[in-house]
Amino acid sequence: MQQLEMILHAGTLIAVNALISLLSSLAFLLAYWIRPRFVPPVSLLAWCMAYLAFSIGFGVLMLPAFALSPRWLGLIGNLLIDLGAALNVVAVVLYLRRPRSELWILGPAAALALVEVGYVLSHYENMRVMVALGCAVRGILTVGAATALWQCADESRRPVARLAAAIHALWALLLLSRMLWWLFNPAADGGSDPTTAFGLTSRLVLTCAITPCFLWMLTRQLDAELLRHASRDPLTGLVNRRVVWEQGAARATQAARHQRPLAVLMIDVDHFKKVNDGWGHAAGDAVLRAVAQTLSDTVSPGDVIGRVGGEEFLVLPAQAQRAAALAERLRAAVEGLAIAIESGAVLRCTISIGHAETADGSGVWQCAVTEADRALYVAKQAGRNRVVSVTMPAPQAQPAGAATVLA
Ligand code: GH3
Ligand code: MG
Ligand code: MG
Repeated sequence: MQQLEMILHAGTLIAVNALISLLSSLAFLLAYWIRPRFVPPVSLLAWCMAYLAFSIGFGVLMLPAFALSPRWLGLIGNLLIDLGAALNVVAVVLYLRRPRSELWILGPAAALALVEVGYVLSHYENMRVMVALGCAVRGILTVGAATALWQCADESRRPVARLAAAIHALWALLLLSRMLWWLFNPAADGGSDPTTAFGLTSRLVLTCAITPCFLWMLTRQLDAELLRHASRDPLTGLVNRRVVWEQGAARATQAARHQRPLAVLMIDVDHFKKVNDGWGHAAGDAVLRAVAQTLSDTVSPGDVIGRVGGEEFLVLPAQAQRAAALAERLRAAVEGLAIAIESGAVLRCTISIGHAETADGSGVWQCAVTEADRALYVAKQAGRNRVVSVTMPAPQAQPAGAATVLA
């Protein structure tokens, strides 16, 4: 540590830390100003304040260079840096929407900070006490932030959150080593701190690594949100027609390549217009949401289900052989549904399903959809609330589009 002290000038490191923290604070202020709708704005404000506290804290430590040395200068500067570390934990917990109970870590950190204040005010700015207690306070807070980051539940941000967690953990280890040096080094003298350059350098590296990580998390979140908007139906949360068509075309190609069967279920809510006309559009929306939820609860994990029209849904079963049984389960599940709407009434509805299947994956995706549509039409004509299945013969045996109605 002493060698580092000779290479790196503590004053310069303090100034650079103050500047980098100020830039980070401005970056978060800008993010707060832009205020993406899906980010809790208070978390960005907390980060802005955290880095501002770091910056002012380092600024206070620079005052002797301007011939200003107010009383308890070191204590005030270090407490501001502790405040920054505490606000960083608050920002992480709020940003990741972690349980507020994880902020308990602020309690022991505040208690240790109070011990530090009490000691310094009743004695003097003893470096051994200040560095040991200061490192303990920041260490606790850094471990708190690392733990919350590691447990990030959102898949899109998790890799970066874990990287940020690892950097925080490394910082906590550096704080621990500095604290241990002070506690167990007999040569340590309470009047000056030879570990300052080490502490300031690691703080600088942390800020330079962490701030881009947080901003990177924001951009990943933005990307995921844009993707969600482009691929999900906002009313039901199911994937939209574009995604279903992409997946369907891909599955049809795979099925044809491996000579495997392909199945498509086209689903339409029966007499849905009557729901809108009789109970209003909001009730119609509630019915669509409930039907979508029931369908998606009934399909298996590998199946694709999407909303492809107003009251039309499409299912691509992962296993074509089980498609007919799945269609019947879906029909029965919706038939058994009781949907309570806002007015207090309980609505019931049924669905008709057109099931098209190719025996060996022959034919193309669009053809399978057309056949499923045809089967759906037959189901409607036959009285609704039923499944009609068709198999599509191989193109060479019969021209595409000629379907055989089985049920
Ligand atoms: P069928 O049994 O023959 O399918 O009769 P239907 O009444 O279900 O069929 P139709 O196609 O005549 O009516 C579909 C209705 O769905 C018409 C349209 O206003 C309504 N609709 C489409 N999208 C939405 C939506 O997002 N919300 C609501 N509430 N209604 C919708
Ligand atoms: Mg329809
Ligand atoms: Mg309908």
